[in-house]
Amino acid sequence: MARLSAEELQSPVSIWKEQDVVNGRKVDAFVVILRTRGCWWSWQKGCTMCGYNTASSKAVTAEDLRHQLQKAVQRYQGEAMVKIYTSGSFLDPEEVPLDLRSDVFSSFDAAERILFESRPEFITGDNLKDIDPRSAVAIGLETANEEVLRRCVRKGFTVEDYKRAAGVLLDKGLPLRTYLLLKPPYMTERAAVKDAIASIHFAAPFSESVSVNPVNVQRDTVVDAMWRRGNYRPPWLWSLVEVLRQGREVASVRIMSSPSGGGTPRGVHNCDSCDRKILDAVQRFSFSQDLDDLGGLDCGCRAEWAAIMDLQDTMGTTVDVARYLGDELEFD
Ligand code: SF4
Ligand SMILES: [Zn+2]
Repeated sequence: MARLSAEELQSPVSIWKEQDVVNGRKVDAFVVILRTRGCWWSWQKGCTMCGYNTASSKAVTAEDLRHQLQKAVQRYQGEAMVKIYTSGSFLDPEEVPLDLRSDVFSSFDAAERILFESRPEFITGDNLKDIDPRSAVAIGLETANEEVLRRCVRKGFTVEDYKRAAGVLLDKGLPLRTYLLLKPPYMTERAAVKDAIASIHFAAPFSESVSVNPVNVQRDTVVDAMWRRGNYRPPWLWSLVEVLRQGREVASVRIMSSPSGGGTPRGVHNCDSCDRKILDAVQRFSFSQDLDDLGGLDCGCRAEWAAIMDLQDTMGTTVDVARYLGDELEFD
């Protein structure tokens, strides 16, 4: 891990603005990624697709975090939603000390909703005792299938742990956003689509919204090593459209997706001619929830996607079949 300068330790990883939905209303959202010591699990085994600890540092102190918070506040312009990410768990007191937590909340007085992420083990009645009532929590459940969670994602917690944490949030009246992973490694395209739809079905009753995150191949991860050898292809955008479409039909909560790396070789993609069009449709749908936004999409590559789903099944393999069959792909 690269040594970070004092300036870097005192600066958030990133700050940007986007839009989101609060109580059914489209609102401006302020997003900050604080640089903490990172997710404890990522320092143990870590999830197979996660490279977040490259942005973290065990050298970060509480004082550094205060400087980061000040820098974030300077950029805040009263957006109704604030999202505070840490590349780990905001509720882990080792990452964000308890006394800093209240400073974070009071720094964003104008916000109606403050969303942060946490692994389930930190979501306990005791740890949420003094939590700001504007809080909403996101949990990366990834999949509702215990075996996929253990073997393919290597998540380090169970579906039962998620259910328990969701119950605590429900008791506290805090909204839950569940993140699901589309296409963990070692799964065929078809199995990944089915798994994501079943997981939406499972997570919806516990959640205010469900966000489907297609794998984006991050450097120095298990998935990265597989991708470089041609043993993994990020999901097709056609798969994402199918998951959102069918997910919408099985769940009554908001289903959304905001893919990072979309349209690139490392992210969810189809072909150069349709990637942009489909990503735009996914974004429209994520706000409107109107299936018409996902209708009428077509491209020559759709037949290729359908064929590869069949071919992987026939060949009994999860590798990037097109690459093995000689397609020219570039791996940077
Ligand atoms: S729990 Fe989240 S931050 Fe931690 S290793 Fe897994 S994906 Fe990364
Ligand atoms: Zn296409």
